Amino acid sequence: MNSFSALDRAKYIEKLKNETFDLLVVGGGATGCGIALDAASRGMKTALVEKQDFASGTSSKSTKLIHGGLRYLKQFEIGLVRESGTERAIVHRLAPHLVLPEKMLLPLIEGGTFGKLSTSFGLWVYDLLAGVRGDDRRKMLSKKQALSLEPLLDESVLKGGGFYAEYRTDDARLTIETIKTAVRYGATALNYCLVTGFVEEEGKLVGATCQDVFSKKEFTVLARQIVSAGGPWVDVLRKQNDGDLGKKRLQPTKGVHLVFPHEKLPLRHSIYFDVPDGRMVFAIPRGRVTYVGTTDTAYHGSLDRVVCKVDDAAYLLAAVNHAFPSIELTLEDIESNWAGLRPLIHEEGKSPSELSRKDEIFEAPNGLISIAGGKLTGYRKMAQRIVYLVEERLPEDFPKSTTRNIPLTPDPLPSSKAVEDYIKRMEDKVTGFGLDRYYAWYLVTTYGKQSEEILAGMKKIEGDLPEVALARAESAFGVRAEMVSSAADFFMRRTGRLFFDIKSIPVVRQAVMADLAEMLGWDEPRQAAENQALDQLLADATTFYENEF
Ligand code: FAD
Repeated sequence: MNSFSALDRAKYIEKLKNETFDLLVVGGGATGCGIALDAASRGMKTALVEKQDFASGTSSKSTKLIHGGLRYLKQFEIGLVRESGTERAIVHRLAPHLVLPEKMLLPLIEGGTFGKLSTSFGLWVYDLLAGVRGDDRRKMLSKKQALSLEPLLDESVLKGGGFYAEYRTDDARLTIETIKTAVRYGATALNYCLVTGFVEEEGKLVGATCQDVFSKKEFTVLARQIVSAGGPWVDVLRKQNDGDLGKKRLQPTKGVHLVFPHEKLPLRHSIYFDVPDGRMVFAIPRGRVTYVGTTDTAYHGSLDRVVCKVDDAAYLLAAVNHAFPSIELTLEDIESNWAGLRPLIHEEGKSPSELSRKDEIFEAPNGLISIAGGKLTGYRKMAQRIVYLVEERLPEDFPKSTTRNIPLTPDPLPSSKAVEDYIKRMEDKVTGFGLDRYYAWYLVTTYGKQSEEILAGMKKIEGDLPEVALARAESAFGVRAEMVSSAADFFMRRTGRLFFDIKSIPVVRQAVMADLAEMLGWDEPRQAAENQALDQLLADATTFYENEF
């Protein structure tokens, strides 16, 4: 079986250099990783290169919902709602520990976006399109029922509520598990590998020039077909390819989320609430925190460093304080934040919120296929469409896509109930290690049954605080099995600590950095650079800037 270890990096580079692939995917976000899995599982010889880390672009900055997109119903994007609704059930089945059912409360308020009748009908259609059955179907609530579910709501304007089914995930982990699965099916995938240009022969694309970001060495990857899934960078890659964007181009919009300690915003349920300007925002309890988002504003800053501005934080604070007036949150209450870019397609005369979330495929005359837009929720279906297009261009036939039946971890838990039972069993184990019960939930919803491997690693670590020993065992697992190649990979995308448990970072940092340095052979300058990069990430997660970069 193929490995997915940062320790085998040189081996992957040799493979990329020396073999010719049926398909090269550029970009290791949810879309690119989904494409790699679809292609590899259908027997295509597949490679994927990612300029930074897997999921380092938009795919770690979303609202982290696998959802049907209720607001798209309002825009009559029925096809999008139906596809998302079907897909969320499939993705839940493929990774029940990672895509968890999440009941959403939609408060109905005086002068709000949705009235009682339209909500009742809208949620009924929403459930119908997604095939939601039984007890999971939407329930309409009286004012009293809505308040008893969520006492922090503003009683003076509340009229009732809708209560309906969605799913919550960890976008970065979903992306990582997808690429790990693609590699199990034979794909070759490398992070920190930048595509610097494309190679053409007789007007047809035959490869891409790549740079190993760590050694700065250049090499060429040869492939019969190339797909760019570059997210917000898709136009940069299209320009690199033939310089021509044609009529359709990207218009990134920025979305910010704020993270509060749960005790500061102690919601009992996820809530999708009205903002006075007519938009709607989510507030989602998750483990130790509650996060709130998102904004949706036109963006013209750096694609590589997207930050939360004072205005973004002020907007979300006002929104949350308006919906839950007894809370009175301030900037000081914000524990962490993240900001990301939606790779949306420009439409003349439309505001950021009005732009369609549909995906778009661009085909260049020399054969480069680019895909952008869409949603995390639809990554599997988007991947299927792209790989069928790739197949049309290859002379041979491949078996049909089976990703709807390919679990995203090697030893999957079969259902939500099994996940709950497993968390309960895990509680005894983690408390046996001297850890808080919280870590049972954390481990299972992060790694599923791979938690066992981490706990086995923890047994071998002596003399540390339990939290430190756990983080060290996780980092060893991350390097060996999840291509952790930098401190940011570990703290931000494999463990989510930067967003959901930022206070734990100073506690475990020194030990984890020392282990990473030893495992990955970092010299002193590299250790200094890694520490500096982590300091910047911590600063960006806790600072509100006046301007974009
Ligand atoms: P990305 O994740 O950005 O991946 C593109 C990758 O390409 C990057 O990792 C980048 O480094 C790499 N790349 C670029 N150039 C190169 C190069 N030259 N060489 C090599 N690699 C390169 N969707 C949902 O379903 N549910 C939600 O709740 C949700 N909420 C959202 C909230 C916000 C604020 C935002 C911004 C989006 C949200 N979305 C949501 C949408 C979803 O996050 C995106 O559709 C999805 O993550 C896009 O994935 P992607 O792979 O296309 O792009």
